[in-house]
Amino acid sequence: MAELTVGQKVNLTIGSQATVLKELGRGGQGIVYLVDLGGTKMALKWYHTPPEDAFYKNLEHNVNAGAPSDAFIWPEYVTVKENGSYGYIMKLRPEGYYEFGNYLLALKNFKSLDAMLAAAMKICEGFRMLHLKGYSYQDLNDGNFFIRPSDGDVLICDNDNVMPQGQKSGIMGKARYMAPEIVAGGVPDKYSDRFSLSVILFMLFFANHPFEGAKVVSCPCMTEAFEKRFYGSEAVFIYDKDDPSNRPVRGIHQNVIKRWPLFPSILKNTFIEQFSKEKLQKPNERLIEQEWEKIINRVRDELVICPNCHEETFVDMDASNYNCINCGKSIDTSKRLKYGLRELILTPQTKLFIDKDNTPDAEVGFFPTDKNLLILKNLTTGTWNVDTPKGKVKVVKPGEFMPILNGLKIAFGTSLPNDPNAKGEIEA
Ligand SMILES: [Zn+2]
Repeated sequence: MAELTVGQKVNLTIGSQATVLKELGRGGQGIVYLVDLGGTKMALKWYHTPPEDAFYKNLEHNVNAGAPSDAFIWPEYVTVKENGSYGYIMKLRPEGYYEFGNYLLALKNFKSLDAMLAAAMKICEGFRMLHLKGYSYQDLNDGNFFIRPSDGDVLICDNDNVMPQGQKSGIMGKARYMAPEIVAGGVPDKYSDRFSLSVILFMLFFANHPFEGAKVVSCPCMTEAFEKRFYGSEAVFIYDKDDPSNRPVRGIHQNVIKRWPLFPSILKNTFIEQFSKEKLQKPNERLIEQEWEKIINRVRDELVICPNCHEETFVDMDASNYNCINCGKSIDTSKRLKYGLRELILTPQTKLFIDKDNTPDAEVGFFPTDKNLLILKNLTTGTWNVDTPKGKVKVVKPGEFMPILNGLKIAFGTSLPNDPNAKGEIEA
């Protein structure tokens, strides 16, 4: 087993040297060290035993290609092969981010539903960019994600197994996150990544594995053979619409039992469909990342501030359920911003996310001198052009606001990467 010592210098292929400062942690594949590289503190992952040459070449390729998005803590430099192994250098994980597993155990909690949705969006966007660049992640699991509870920002780590589509890293993925076809012996690809993504999203929202219900509880001892059945050939979604055999169990699966009723139908129905027995068998019909982003946008459109208790709540448009999940009072959903097929509910203090990044684009408030008149504040960096029903055009600059009045049409301008012809329309 190759280990490094404090003070030891490691040569990088670009010619510079990194100095080992201390060990940060170790796992099955290798040890992570804090290193100094030209005055900057970085992390070095050093493999216990050097993986084969193809792995090294792939690592070099990924370093040269660069990170797919800022969500990835990506390999930045590769070391030369020396001291019986090799490794790669990446940025240090900043303070304030916690492993996803902490959220599943409720050791960490999102500050808000808003932050939770932001995390979901960031994960989808990271995987969209990864697949767009022709990679597959292959080893997606709860240990790869670090999330900031305050705003849901996500960092995706352990990117050394990322491979071009169709190539095999030799990593099969972690049990419980592998797609059924991989459990059965297939090669991981973007389709199996998409399965893993659905699992991660489900766990993010409900803090329970989608296949872990009564069946798993009744299993005397989780052997490899059982694992292959429960997560592979006989996988049953805990809320399968036709098969109730694997429902969550009271006293054991409390998170999902508590949370499932609180989320909007659009989200629950998407999971029911994605984890249906039919879809589990058809990898190429799984929801692609852009579709997931649209779903999360729709869920975000239904996240409002309750005018009664001033807490976050969902209004379930598809189920016509407008009762606050906290105080139970009915919420007035008559004021809306229609945008394409979306309907964003306008209640005071609610932030609107028009595009799919995690920066709010508008916020509902009160007119300064008239608390009966609601306004929409422009939080974007661009100017909005607002058409009135009488044909007048008003300009709403960044930081300014417009009244929420029936029939006003808003062109959000170029600061939002949307269809330039798409306009929002107020219904009030
Ligand atoms: Zn309320």
